[in-house]
Amino acid sequence: MYHQSVLDNIVPPRDPRVFYDLPPLGGLASITRLDDLVTRIVAPNPSSMTLDGTNTYVVGNSGSGACIVIDPGPKSAIHFDRVESVLHTSDAEVAMVLVTHHHRDHAAAAQTWAEKWGCTVAANSPKVSGPGGLVFKSAGQTLRFGSLQVEVVPTPGHCMDHVAFRLENGVLFTGDHILGRGTSVLTWPDGDLVAYIESLQRILTFGSDALYPGHGPQLVGEAPEAVINYYLAHRAFRENQLISILGSGPMTLGDITELIYVGLQDDLKEGARQSTRACLDKLQRADKVREMSEGLWMIPEKDSQPSIVA
Ligand SMILES: [Zn+2]
Repeated sequence: MYHQSVLDNIVPPRDPRVFYDLPPLGGLASITRLDDLVTRIVAPNPSSMTLDGTNTYVVGNSGSGACIVIDPGPKSAIHFDRVESVLHTSDAEVAMVLVTHHHRDHAAAAQTWAEKWGCTVAANSPKVSGPGGLVFKSAGQTLRFGSLQVEVVPTPGHCMDHVAFRLENGVLFTGDHILGRGTSVLTWPDGDLVAYIESLQRILTFGSDALYPGHGPQLVGEAPEAVINYYLAHRAFRENQLISILGSGPMTLGDITELIYVGLQDDLKEGARQSTRACLDKLQRADKVREMSEGLWMIPEKDSQPSIVA
């Protein structure tokens, strides 16, 4: 098929994680102490979109008696009991619940759990933080909990209220901006590919040696830089595919998505369609593609240069 042969010439970047000794999908323990400050609890909501399940993080200096909980995840009694057991072990009270973004697999339990713990929710959206909650004000806002300091890092793109959280030791909680496995979906119309790439580039400058994602295993050592560069290369790869496909003639979003994501399982198709739509939006803003009537997308013909007659 003509379109497919065009795509065959565009080589996908290699995911550096194939070289790492990461646990297989579904192989994360329910509770894992990641370092002196952080314990990860994996929620029992595995799926093709949430991978092993949502990662909830309990973060605090041992002996300080205070901690924060990042991304409570779904309303699950089993999950809540596991988080509680971690709090009891560390003899810590929850000072605040922090949420990376409004998607339910991260935010659903936030207000309920915060109420049980007698604390507030902090998020980038008042719907998530709820009445009396904290809505982040500005880039670089820093929250202090005793000796624990957390910087709020805006990372719009996957969705527009997305933030990451950075500890003083450089550990970065990346939510769905960067995942432990695979690549992130750009939701449409909430997501934005231009913002997503800028967010990746901003995080790359941090030089962090530990990313703790919203799903999948932690990325440490050389992995953060390699994976962020892979994410950037992957987005450029998808853009190249789109331009090449449309080079052979106008096409609908549905047809483009089918060609780019060959053989994708059904429950991932909507995410692929939205990511493709977000990519078309970026290219349209750069005047590299144009939306015609009837849902067709095309590459605009370049205006012919006026000839100069002396
Ligand atoms: Zn998620």
